[in-house]
Amino acid sequence: LPAPNLDALRATFPILASEAYGKPLVYLDNAATTQKPRAVIEAIEHYYLHTNSNVHRGAHYLGDLATAALEDAREKVAAFLNARREEVIWTRGTTEGINLVAHSFGGSQLKAGDEVLISSLEHHANIVPWQQVCARTGATLRVIPLAADASLDLSNLDALINERTRIVAVVHVSNALGVINPVAEIIRRARAVGATVLLDAAQAVAHFPVDVQALDCDFLVFSGHKLFGPTGIGVLYGRQALLETMPPYQTGGEMIETVTFEASTWNQLPYKFEAGTPHIAGAVGLGAAIDWLNAQDRQAFLAHEEDLRDYVTERARAFPGLRIIGDTPSKVATLSFLLDGAHPNDVGTLLDQQGVAVRTGHHCTMPLMNLLGIPGTVRASFAPYNRRDDIDRLFTALEKAAKFL
Ligand code: PMP
Repeated sequence: LPAPNLDALRATFPILASEAYGKPLVYLDNAATTQKPRAVIEAIEHYYLHTNSNVHRGAHYLGDLATAALEDAREKVAAFLNARREEVIWTRGTTEGINLVAHSFGGSQLKAGDEVLISSLEHHANIVPWQQVCARTGATLRVIPLAADASLDLSNLDALINERTRIVAVVHVSNALGVINPVAEIIRRARAVGATVLLDAAQAVAHFPVDVQALDCDFLVFSGHKLFGPTGIGVLYGRQALLETMPPYQTGGEMIETVTFEASTWNQLPYKFEAGTPHIAGAVGLGAAIDWLNAQDRQAFLAHEEDLRDYVTERARAFPGLRIIGDTPSKVATLSFLLDGAHPNDVGTLLDQQGVAVRTGHHCTMPLMNLLGIPGTVRASFAPYNRRDDIDRLFTALEKAAKFL
């Protein structure tokens, strides 16, 4: 496979040429947010320079352009996920998408005795909304346990997903550890008992193609900003038949069909779930990010990221006193680790001072950190524009840091 031309690729991400404290920036916090290619930045600028208006009002020339831009971006997302445009709902991000499903679907469907199943690897965004809806409805929240290597333990899956299970909400790729979960097996079992499945694809979408038909999930959520797009925009995919039966989440604005002081009726999909003026420029930026990604050789990206994953793992295994958290075979290019006797935050600070940007702490997965018995980790997470050279810089910086600690 041809390796991506990294110099050319990096040149399309202007921020990668930055310095931090006078040293060339090594950006290894891609699981928190990815950097943006020039095409995305220019699409947003173009929108505000030439298109800006409110949408769906049909009032004038610019209004029609803005409406077309928003709906064009929706078509791009639909194609990207292998979904229909009616099934693509704009949200602010992954968190809002999960809250929408928990409130609207969970809130209207769950009752005492029902079970909602999540996993040990969930981000708080896929824990707290379910806790809240379970508390309101009397349903019970259950958790897929962790195996010794920090992958999910599916040995008891048939008992965990049973005739009481109504909703299974799991993360495709763990943001904290980079572990890829066996979602096909989980979804197959959920289907067998008629449970509804939500996939948190916040991390997955940037690493490999995600096809909602092939996955056979009912809901899938992600954030634009982790897919080389802007912040403030995200996507909820929902199976049309389910979305049709669900009550609206927020109300007001364009999500209505008719309103009287006595009662209202709802607009058709997808607008029923889009109250208020959407983040039009954000959607346009996300559409540009998808166009940009579609123009890349994703097979080459995948092979390159596998090389980065294998190289960083090899370097980590050889580093004295370094403990990899989540050393499983099925992983994206993310290294979560601890150094013996050092708090992860101190390691992160020493790396930062050398221009290496990593994330430290619990990564919004406090229950996972508790299960692992650790305060948090240092996480280096990679994108296709990272190089082996970035990994060398990370370990040179770690060697220096280890001398201080
Ligand atoms: N789930 C996962 C797996 C994530 O990585 C993140 C972001 N760290 C979220 C949910 C929440 O995403 P957002 O903050 O964009 O809503």
